[in-house]
Amino acid sequence: MGWFVYVVFMRFRAFINSFRAYAWEPSDFEIAASVGLDVSRIRRFDLNTSPYKPSHWLKKVAGELEELAVHRYPDTSYSALRRGLASYLGVGEDCFVIANGGDEAFDIISKVYLEDGCEAIVSSPTYSMYRVVSEIMGAKVVSVPRKVGFLDDVDGLIKAVNNRTRLIFLCSPNNPTGNVIGRDDLVRILNECDVGVVVDEAYQEYGGESSVKLAESYSNLMVVRTFSKAFGLAGARLGYIVACRETVDVLNKVRPPNSVDVVTLRLAELALDDVEWVRLRVRDTLAERSRLVSEISKIRGVRVYPSAANFFLLEFLERDRDEVYYELLRRGFVLRRLEDPALSRCLRVSVGLPEDNNALLDALRDIL
Ligand code: PMP
Repeated sequence: MGWFVYVVFMRFRAFINSFRAYAWEPSDFEIAASVGLDVSRIRRFDLNTSPYKPSHWLKKVAGELEELAVHRYPDTSYSALRRGLASYLGVGEDCFVIANGGDEAFDIISKVYLEDGCEAIVSSPTYSMYRVVSEIMGAKVVSVPRKVGFLDDVDGLIKAVNNRTRLIFLCSPNNPTGNVIGRDDLVRILNECDVGVVVDEAYQEYGGESSVKLAESYSNLMVVRTFSKAFGLAGARLGYIVACRETVDVLNKVRPPNSVDVVTLRLAELALDDVEWVRLRVRDTLAERSRLVSEISKIRGVRVYPSAANFFLLEFLERDRDEVYYELLRRGFVLRRLEDPALSRCLRVSVGLPEDNNALLDALRDIL
């Protein structure tokens, strides 16, 4: 056995030993156990998912389960889903690559663009998965720090491009800061940089303009979107890339053929027939965000950053943020602590249901 383990380790890529993996979110049970609370007391404000579960879609699928052809593979061209997406976004049916969540979309893009010795640029702080997929492909990640107020440093991003650069990852609205990238800035990057440009619009339904229409004119643009946030389907795992037909053909070369299951595909069909429900839940979330932001702003010693998404940053001006984090955690409130040194005084809060938001407000007022 010992000999077998030794041999297996010898065959790892050397890079794996020093690679900093994605930090998985702990489960409610693990968190409850770590602070000695019953799991029912755990309230998650760290996941950026929707608090609204689309139960009516689930009920419909439940009634159809027996008819679903689970003994066969899904239609691997995902044509029905692409038709639904085309009418939702107003772009052609051939402009989509379907993936098992936005994260698989980044994986597909990085497999096409990246290899040892090349570079990928990120506008930091931002979503850590861009670094993860890039490093796995052997690329060096070049971080361009955001400007005051966490705005993208467009000049800095353009200047960072060299002949080793293959991709620029942008996120709009940006996780974790909530900033959007302006259309003029994006067009400037697309025009001036002869590299792949990824715009992650995971949170676009909550705010900011979508750049999907630009994909028809810029073959270097890939817009990544997901059903995990505003559509309330994070557990179903469905994402997609919007790009021009030529880029879609290339990306499809490395796409796994069957990574989206038939149950999820049916859920997505129902979701796209019911986007009004999604719009109403977005409206509810934005109303709650305004209320939370205005109430937290009245608390001494905390600064709230504006955000276009269903989450926002709090900066603690008088208290150590880790102390606040643990005090909240001991009461069952889980906020997100971010590793980036630029955010060492910040916690990220996802907007929840009104009763949970009220409980968080009470706890914050008490602690601060
Ligand atoms: N982009 C951003 C900015 C995110 O925060 C997330 C969710 N963590 C994703 C993409 C990926 O989401 P999913 O894989 O669930 O579609």
